[in-house]
Amino acid sequence: MSSEEAPKGAILQRDKQTYAIVPRVPCGLLTKEKLRNLATVVDKYDIPIVKLTSGHRIALVGMKADAINDIYADLGMDPGKATELCLHYVQACPGTEVCKFGIQDSLGFGIRLEALLAGRDMPAKLKVGVSGCPFSCAEGLVRDIGIMGKKKGWTVSFGGNSGQRARIGDILAEEISHEEVITLINRCLDYYAEHGKKKERTARFIERIGIETFREAVLSRPLSEG
Ligand code: SF4
Repeated sequence: MSSEEAPKGAILQRDKQTYAIVPRVPCGLLTKEKLRNLATVVDKYDIPIVKLTSGHRIALVGMKADAINDIYADLGMDPGKATELCLHYVQACPGTEVCKFGIQDSLGFGIRLEALLAGRDMPAKLKVGVSGCPFSCAEGLVRDIGIMGKKKGWTVSFGGNSGQRARIGDILAEEISHEEVITLINRCLDYYAEHGKKKERTARFIERIGIETFREAVLSRPLSEG
């Protein structure tokens, strides 16, 4: 297989000969079975580098192209998205599941959101951060969609980005319920899908159209109307 024929879900590395993959790990949750299997696969294929990424993912690096499909089959995990225009990950902190500061169940909500958003086409890659309290460990304000738990509900931001042209997301709503968050996210992503340019991240999209135009589009009707 030539370097132009990158296997599905694999990223060509600097050496132009080997590939990396980032199998999906929804919200970063692993089980002992998955960890054991991962170690077995790393051993079997002699994978030289295993690296945790900033987005709750496990990167396996340095494999030949013709081994990728077998590795995924042995892992029993879905290919992670690394370059496609869609959801790349939902980052979620432990929240009330284990953290003593947790106010809301960020982990449970993150898993629900990952299932809701996975596979949905977007103008550009999309990253989501869900935090269980205002300490905001899941870094939602610098993610395309940020969700932060407070006593009376969730705060939602849109248009954040880290990286070279970092941008703090704009707060769209505060103290809203789970269902209202989902309604708001659906409205945001529908509008973004319709008006965003190809490869235009939410931060650049909001800068181009203006946050007031966006607010008017997604918040002109009460969230309780669905
Ligand atoms: S954001 Fe809050 S609940 Fe989540 S890990 Fe940080 S301190 Fe804990």
